[in-house]
Amino acid sequence: MTQAAASADIVLHNAFVVTMDGALTVLRDGAIAVAGNRIAAVGPSADVLSAFPGAAQTLNLAGRILLPGFVNTHVHTSQQLARGIADDVDLMTWLHGRIWPYESHMTEEDSYASTLLCGIELIRSGVTCFAEAGGQYVSEMARAVELLGLRACLTKSTMDCGDGLPPNWSSCSTGDCIQSQKDLYEKHHNTADGRIRIWFGLRQIMNATDRLLLETRDAAQELNTGIHMHIAEIPYENQLVMRTKKIDHGTVTYLEKIDFLRSNLLAAHSVWLNESEISHFSNAGVKVSHCPASAMRMLGFAPIREMLDSGVCVSLGTDGAPSNNRMSIVDEMYLASLINKGREAYISGTTDPTVLPSETVLTMATINGAKAVLWDNEIGSLEVGKKADLIVVNPFKWSMVPLHDSIANIVYCMRSENIESVMCNGQWIMKDQKIMNVNEEEVISSAVKRATALLARAGINLPERMNYL
Ligand SMILES: [Zn+2]
Repeated sequence: MTQAAASADIVLHNAFVVTMDGALTVLRDGAIAVAGNRIAAVGPSADVLSAFPGAAQTLNLAGRILLPGFVNTHVHTSQQLARGIADDVDLMTWLHGRIWPYESHMTEEDSYASTLLCGIELIRSGVTCFAEAGGQYVSEMARAVELLGLRACLTKSTMDCGDGLPPNWSSCSTGDCIQSQKDLYEKHHNTADGRIRIWFGLRQIMNATDRLLLETRDAAQELNTGIHMHIAEIPYENQLVMRTKKIDHGTVTYLEKIDFLRSNLLAAHSVWLNESEISHFSNAGVKVSHCPASAMRMLGFAPIREMLDSGVCVSLGTDGAPSNNRMSIVDEMYLASLINKGREAYISGTTDPTVLPSETVLTMATINGAKAVLWDNEIGSLEVGKKADLIVVNPFKWSMVPLHDSIANIVYCMRSENIESVMCNGQWIMKDQKIMNVNEEEVISSAVKRATALLARAGINLPERMNYL
């Protein structure tokens, strides 16, 4: 047993503890002691119980699974009210006809309601930390995250050029883009008991001048924080970059050429990379957020196996509600494994079910996620001294029994509904499937009202698909 403190607020024992530490240690009858917001001990139940006889609370988990909280590394909290507004449409309709009108008509209160609704779904899927992909009202996101009890790296959506932008977005000068993010950093970084961090955001290369790219790189380095950017999403992006920048491949080749790639860059999607671009990522230590559902819907097959083989840190994200609908990292684990197994058959002409085994996928959702958000010194695994971000899974339900191979069952069988309790920073934010810090029904009804009003304001009318009477 490893132990750091002499007293504990809570001891969780008689659990199947999947630590995701460097040795991938699993304790069949394990326990964790939490003191304040940190893990004070991890070890066999008998040892931890006898080391903390005066723990304020002792909870017998009766064989349930304890896991590190999942890290969702690509989430658009502002898009939660847009679930269902862009299903089965082409990408340009998706962006120009639906998402940009929606986002550009959003108010600060809409953003707050959207983040609360999104946060509930994140918590229910076992997420304790997420990386915001970039929205407009970071202060409202921060207000919601603080209330929900989650941990997050929040990012403003930043664009200083590009065609087709809504009028109230295209006015942002490069200097204003950088300064407004520095102001947000000043105001919110390391707030909410250290649960909120502020990152720099770049929407995508087609909406960023070279000056914005390089000044973002320098500002993030100066403030010792991260950069979140959509990279190499579709072939059109690469083709445009090749044509306008006069290079022989796409976005990553260009970003390497201008010396933009750094280890604090979180590259969302990264679908259309060739071999040398994967090496650029690997050499620079760039982190990737693989969003399998969103990729299947709109982007394509990302070379995840190749990236993992070359040492790139690949994590998992859901993307936003209108790209995925299901904001569940549990579902993304299942999809990541299946899609990348299927891709193998597609590209090589033969099957290989050994690709992305369950322990790799679980690593992507936990410790790789923590590395991707530059927080692995404190989260991503259940180890003494780390923050107490953990989840309790009940595997004794129809969806997960029998448990012949628990790690495989977590990836291939678990549903969000198996997650019973979620702790972030030492506090229960869901206990026995009850969201603790907000009234879930009120959040849902307020969000639905706001979503309807927002769509009307944005002039988004969805065509009727069937013969409604
Ligand atoms: Zn995205």
